[in-house]
Amino acid sequence: HNEEAAAKAASDTGAPTIFDKIVAKEIPSDIVYEDENVLAFRDINPQAPVHVLVIPKLRDGLTTLGKAEPRHTEVLGQLLHASKIVAEKEGIVDGFRVVINNGAEGCQSVYHLHLHVLGGRQMKWPPV
Ligand code: ADP
Repeated sequence: HNEEAAAKAASDTGAPTIFDKIVAKEIPSDIVYEDENVLAFRDINPQAPVHVLVIPKLRDGLTTLGKAEPRHTEVLGQLLHASKIVAEKEGIVDGFRVVINNGAEGCQSVYHLHLHVLGGRQMKWPPV
């Protein structure tokens, strides 16, 4: 898979990512929801009819969920709550999935914490 190749090539260096440019609106994105702390935009390579990424505007060390510290608990809650708002706005309240890929074996390729909100089709379990 392309995602697996991309994830294998990426690593948690702390370097700025493309998501900084999306937050700064230096590169375009299809924004679904935005507030003071959170931005949600459509994934360019959607894996379901609805595939939205929910990110903290300020990375503040959250390259991955694995770097979470007590100071991050508020924004982590805001990200989950924003995911619910996205699901509602997208009309996928009957069922959806929220995924965080963590690190190389988790298939993470962009090191700016993001929640994938997926829906609009029957999900399968387990995610392989
Ligand atoms: P993976 O690439 O294995 O899915 P991640 O969990 O790190 O790993 O997800 C990064 C996601 O960011 C991918 O789904 C990818 O399609 C998406 N993405 C990368 N660049 C952009 C962009 N410019 N706009 C929207 N989505 C993007």
